[in-house]
Amino acid sequence: MATITPNKAVKRIDKGNAWRAVITPDANHPIVGNRAIEGNGTSLDSWKNWSGLQTLPSLNIAKSFAAHQRICIFAPHPDDEVLGCGGLLQQLAANGNPIVLIHVTNGTQSHPKSTLYPPENLNVIRPLESMQALKVLGIAQQVTIKALHLTDGNVFNQQESFYKKLVDFIEPNDILLTTFRRDGHPDHEATGKVVTSYAKRHRLYCYQVLIWAWHWAKPADSRIPWHCALRLDLTAEQLQRKSQAITCFKSQITADDSTDNPPVLSAQTIARISQPWEVYLYEPYL
Ligand SMILES: [Zn+2]
Repeated sequence: MATITPNKAVKRIDKGNAWRAVITPDANHPIVGNRAIEGNGTSLDSWKNWSGLQTLPSLNIAKSFAAHQRICIFAPHPDDEVLGCGGLLQQLAANGNPIVLIHVTNGTQSHPKSTLYPPENLNVIRPLESMQALKVLGIAQQVTIKALHLTDGNVFNQQESFYKKLVDFIEPNDILLTTFRRDGHPDHEATGKVVTSYAKRHRLYCYQVLIWAWHWAKPADSRIPWHCALRLDLTAEQLQRKSQAITCFKSQITADDSTDNPPVLSAQTIARISQPWEVYLYEPYL
């Protein structure tokens, strides 16, 4: 979760997080259109009370992921892998799947103008936070981490070089996991677009996780292809580990005294993502 590219249609706010933007009334967001992340977002209760979530088909790891198959999970920023897939990662590890975690960026732009978290520090801190979180999940030994070093907040403009990097390490039997190509954050959308197009071209299985969509979308929202959605249920123990792992991302969950900015991840955002379910989209005919 990081910075968006400045644009005429987007007015930065000085207080708060850089990725939050105020969209002028006469224009949609230049990249994500009507999926912009604004305000507090949809309440957790709205999602909890939506019966449609309960009736989604279940994602069964043992049936859908052969134990020998390698899973490549793409995180636009170090933390997305746990926020979105902390439960899935635990179940994949238990199923015996080798996992490659790809940090698309190192999330260096999450704290503009901060003396506490300048980009050069975040470049080290955020990948370390991710490694600590994987240890808390109990899966660190099964995960190989790879960094693509694209520019945080600007993945949308680097899609071509991103795609070319995939050729170097994706293998023919890999299963790909990415953020939703319409997740609402420009880096998440660009990551989803690149990875799903690679999967389509090479006929690979590809799943997309909802992260910021929980913020801007509403229950039964027509902007989400719910007919392709699968619900992964977490046990109480898996959810507890995921919640504990999220506390490792200290740079994202604590206020910045040097700028007086609140935490990048609000308590509401964390609560919304810390539920006993994760939702994945499988769009076979992208
Ligand atoms: Zn992110």
